[in-house]
Amino acid sequence: MGQEIAERYQDVLAKIEAAKARRTLAPKDTEVTLVAVTKNHDTAAMREAIAAGAVNVGENRVQEAKSKFAEIGNAVTWHIIGHLQTNKVRQAVKFSDLIHSVDSLHLAEAISSEAARIDKVQDILVQVNLAKEDSKSGVYREDLLETLQKVTALPNLRLRGLMCMAPNYEDVEMCRPLFREMYKIYQEVQDLDLPMSNINTLSMGMTHDYEIAVEEGANMVRVGTAIFGPRQY
Ligand SMILES: *Cc1c(COP(=O)(O)O)cnc(C)c1O
Repeated sequence: MGQEIAERYQDVLAKIEAAKARRTLAPKDTEVTLVAVTKNHDTAAMREAIAAGAVNVGENRVQEAKSKFAEIGNAVTWHIIGHLQTNKVRQAVKFSDLIHSVDSLHLAEAISSEAARIDKVQDILVQVNLAKEDSKSGVYREDLLETLQKVTALPNLRLRGLMCMAPNYEDVEMCRPLFREMYKIYQEVQDLDLPMSNINTLSMGMTHDYEIAVEEGANMVRVGTAIFGPRQY
């Protein structure tokens, strides 16, 4: 099992490098951070990934992340990638290094006040629902700039960039225009010179579409199944 996770982890890294070389719009040499998505996998699997070199782990649910954090601690960087309810914010802010899934001003306000309470500056990404899927959360394109302005006016938050999920198309090539559009929006946001921000992260791409996401300019991908195998629910 361990060997498998290590091999798959290295394989994903190699595919990321190959995808970078195929970039046309984004610079070929921008580093890509691989977030190993460990949701529904135990800490034994997480330790195997860490032994293989993983330094970033992503979790969907705060409760699950919290119990794993109790065991693994700060040996890795912790990413919260799933929809975050305001009643989970207190726990999430305690240990998360980057929250990818900020999908409303209301949630940003809750994170900001909790971060202020514990004297932390919380790094966040704002999630964009570019395809306007009902099943996904995220800010719509037309509301994005106004939301970013309001979010960056809040204390104790540092906006680091954007996150998005593509629809689960059968033909993965159909994700490409959406990723390309996200990269354009990301560049636009970088040019805004927003306060309290350091816009250097575009988080997009999962197991089925991360190579295309990297080709189109993602510099952070969130990959679970390709590293750990299918999840048992
Ligand atoms: C589960 C999940 C992933 C990883 O999905 P895989 O298809 O297993 O790679 C990435 N991002 C988010 C937001 C997720 O919920």
